[in-house]
Amino acid sequence: MYYIKDMKNVMEMLLSDAGEYNLILGSIGDFVEKEIMPSAKKIDQEGIFPRQNLEKVAGQGIMAIPFTQDYNGLGLPYPVYIAALEMLAKACANTALQVSIQGMVCEGIRLFGDDKQKKEFLKEKGLAEGKSLAAFALTEPCCGSDANSIQTKAQLSGNNYILNGTKTLITSPGEAGFILLFARTDKGVSSFVVPRNTSGFDVAKVIPKLGFRGHRLSEVHLDNCTVPKENLLGEEGKGLEYAKHILNSGRITIAAIAIGIAQAAYEKAISYSKDRSAFGNNISEYQLVQEKLADMVTGINAARLLTYYAAHLKDKGKNIVSEATQAKLFSTEMALNVCDKAIQIHGGYGYTDEYDIHRHWRDARLLTIGEGTSDFLRLLIAHLSLK
Ligand SMILES: Cc1cc2nc3c(=O)[nH]c(=O)nc-3n(C[C@H](O)[C@H](O)[C@H](O)COP(=O)(O)OP(=O)(O)OC[C@H]3O[C@@H](n4cnc5c(N)ncnc54)[C@H](O)[C@@H]3O)c2cc1C
Repeated sequence: MYYIKDMKNVMEMLLSDAGEYNLILGSIGDFVEKEIMPSAKKIDQEGIFPRQNLEKVAGQGIMAIPFTQDYNGLGLPYPVYIAALEMLAKACANTALQVSIQGMVCEGIRLFGDDKQKKEFLKEKGLAEGKSLAAFALTEPCCGSDANSIQTKAQLSGNNYILNGTKTLITSPGEAGFILLFARTDKGVSSFVVPRNTSGFDVAKVIPKLGFRGHRLSEVHLDNCTVPKENLLGEEGKGLEYAKHILNSGRITIAAIAIGIAQAAYEKAISYSKDRSAFGNNISEYQLVQEKLADMVTGINAARLLTYYAAHLKDKGKNIVSEATQAKLFSTEMALNVCDKAIQIHGGYGYTDEYDIHRHWRDARLLTIGEGTSDFLRLLIAHLSLK
């Protein structure tokens, strides 16, 4: 059962017509449990990019949930998308991460692209539906949090921009059809949609890492990479402003992934605690184990409330900078904590590959770093509170 009552209750609190969405989410839950979850362990252990899962997810219309029919989207409320993403992350975080990145890139094109770009990339190239995949390339060797200092250059030459520089720590750019990439023009940081097969775009190095092993974390070299000037998104010099908007939505989706990962670890811990016996009793009967379980589910539900609330505000067109940031900060730290407790409840077996518990912790570990470190998010929340 993936669409659990705790999720349903929150949806009913937020959406007046939740009945219809409950049916949709119930069937998405059944789909991810049956079609996506079974391959999650293998994807992690063998480092397989989850392309097959993503094709199935696209086939179900999950990536298209928040986009309007103009882009072959389903036009459903944002909390429905967030709930679907949570269930997807519970089933397979590697698959969910790509859906999150895809959503972020599409949101950028939707918000800042012109009509031609929206039609071309979101609809005709199928980004909104997930028929082609997207990557997001902001980070460079010099700078991640300090994105204003990026050094990749974009020089206008006739009808083209010529891009030169290095991007690093980029999630699966080699698997994407299109990359939303940030580079500096004379007017400042600007954003471009770069087709992956552009000459001079080179996925140079795959960087081994702790979790999300279905993804290839890569360095990208741009060596006179030439894109038509029509691929500039919005205006020159506004790239950083756009990135902040895009990351706001992205942070809600990362929070949803954190909740899904935590829910998976929690359910495994509940089940193990009922099976494992020590000193003549199931360990679930020991109050120190119960304390952990109680803290885990309380954290998950608190994160869910914060995250779905931010999603609801986004739907209403409100300013969500602080709420989205709080949701990401709280949910990702909660997920790490819950996954750690789940390993503890599994004892020594939690440390082994066989029980597939440390996968959740390894995946969760990224989430307090990517798309804004917890430190950076705290600074931002405090800054907004003190304004
Ligand atoms: C698995 C993975 C996938 C990723 N995928 C992508 C991707 O697809 N696209 C992309 O563009 N990037 C991606 N990243 C990069 C990620 O977004 C950056 O790692 C992150 O933004 C942090 O930047 P940094 O690593 O340069 O750390 P830094 O910015 O150098 O920070 C290092 C430490 O210093 C702290 N710090 C920095 N400034 C301050 C300050 N002012 N006050 C207090 N503390 C501070 C940070 O919180 C952090 O703890 C990915 C990273 C990983 C690990």
